[in-house]
Amino acid sequence: SPFSVISPLKCAKVNKMQTQVEDSVKPIVDPHDIDPKLLQKLAYDALVWCSLRGLVVGDRNSERSGTVPGVDMVHAPVALLPMSFPEIHWKQACEVAPIFNELVDRVSQDGEFLQQSLSRTKKVDPFTSRLLEIHSKMLKINKIEEIRLGLHRSDYMLDEQTKLLLQIELNTISSSFSGLSPLVSELHRSLLQQYREDIALDANRIPKNNSVNQFAEALALAWNEYGDPRAVIMFVVQAEERNMYDQHWLSASLRERYPTLNDSSYNTHQVTTIRKTLGEIDALGELQQDGTLVVDGQAVAVIYFRAGYAPSDYHSESEWRARLLMEQSCAVKCPSISYHLAGTKKIQQELAKPNVLERFLENKDDIAKLRKCFAGLWSLDESDTVKDAIEKPELYVMKPQREGGGNNIYGEDVKKALLKLQKEGTGSDAAYILMQRIFPKISCSILMREGIPHKEQTISELGVYGSYLRNKNEVLINQQAGYLMRTKVSSSNEGGVAAGFAVLDSIYLV
Ligand code: ADP
Ligand code: MG
Ligand code: MG
Repeated sequence: SPFSVISPLKCAKVNKMQTQVEDSVKPIVDPHDIDPKLLQKLAYDALVWCSLRGLVVGDRNSERSGTVPGVDMVHAPVALLPMSFPEIHWKQACEVAPIFNELVDRVSQDGEFLQQSLSRTKKVDPFTSRLLEIHSKMLKINKIEEIRLGLHRSDYMLDEQTKLLLQIELNTISSSFSGLSPLVSELHRSLLQQYREDIALDANRIPKNNSVNQFAEALALAWNEYGDPRAVIMFVVQAEERNMYDQHWLSASLRERYPTLNDSSYNTHQVTTIRKTLGEIDALGELQQDGTLVVDGQAVAVIYFRAGYAPSDYHSESEWRARLLMEQSCAVKCPSISYHLAGTKKIQQELAKPNVLERFLENKDDIAKLRKCFAGLWSLDESDTVKDAIEKPELYVMKPQREGGGNNIYGEDVKKALLKLQKEGTGSDAAYILMQRIFPKISCSILMREGIPHKEQTISELGVYGSYLRNKNEVLINQQAGYLMRTKVSSSNEGGVAAGFAVLDSIYLV
């Protein structure tokens, strides 16, 4: 396995004597060479900080924690100290965020490209097929979305051997943890401040992270563009959601904070949010003559999806009816059906083909910057690649058109799955794409779960948020909007925090 070329780092325990001797010579730079007593104090203070400052999630062990706020909370799974990350790659990821935003918008406007690229997938993947069905209905009635809001997160891993920052995926729906991730940066900064005698790291090297307010600002500005002061922002949510506090942080920012854009009329508004499941929207929602969406008696200006990205969110026809109803309305959708489709893995793979970016972007520098972070991506009708993947499955990841973690195929299973698909020969290979497997550097980190610190060999994935808002031809917002670092045990394939594979982290620029 390619891991064998990487010598595992040691989680050295430095004893007190040694520390003192070294201290006088040079400061500790590896945050993980920590004395056990200090580790205990740090962990304790981190847990208190999380509790006081709302860096929390619903406790998996409790039934009610996914439905009733304020009961059975536990600190979010976090790394105890920030993960070092090269400044140059951090800057690179920030620089491409607005270009990816623009790309999503352009792709979303090309209905034929979306339908065409997903046409084979449509035949074998019922979920994508339902999304495409709604999309074609909108194309047929020539539905125009004048106000378009994108709250994205582009995820990357830094490939150790090539030193390339490679994109894992671009999320256009339900990009999670914009609410909690600024708190992780703050937690780490606070610990570095408090323990500056013991840990010689500069808190200022953790980049500012304001994703919660930047996302809230984009939502508020979209609401403002919609132009009905009595209308609300509706969060589409799952009935059970242990990550509800991440979402509530956004609602709180919309309600309590006056956004700081220069527009004074906008500063006077405080925006109300409501939370509804797809089922409730079907039961309580209606479209008025003019296209206004009214849910439970309230006009909806902006629909923010934190559900609806997975087949399991659609229990029956009722949920699909709700999705169609919302799409037909004139509310701002985050995302619209075409933004949603533009974020699928199949489209990611199509965009990586030669000359496809050129179809959507003019600026050659921009195109080069995006292409630089594309990993190898292939369709399963490329027989040479499939052959190679069967021979060396550990160098590939096989991905279906799914979101939310836990859906990909790795290692020997790639080989098995490919051989099975070849045998069947029914075209069901179109449900998947193949991707080059990225191997980030393995380093030691302290992961906090359920109150207990664990020293682990880990790898990390950097997500950079992007917010985008336009109204007709005017782009009102197009910016990088904070970040999310996720760190997971290196032996685990998947990286989802909510799915239980990874912890939230922040970055320390080196
Ligand atoms: P999802 O939309 O379900 O989050 P991802 O494409 O992000 O799907 O894959 C889930 C996880 O699988 C990632 O967070 C990452 O940890 C791992 N992963 C995905 N693609 C690769 C890859 N090419 N190389 C290594 N790991 C990957
Ligand atoms: Mg995703
Ligand atoms: Mg992902």
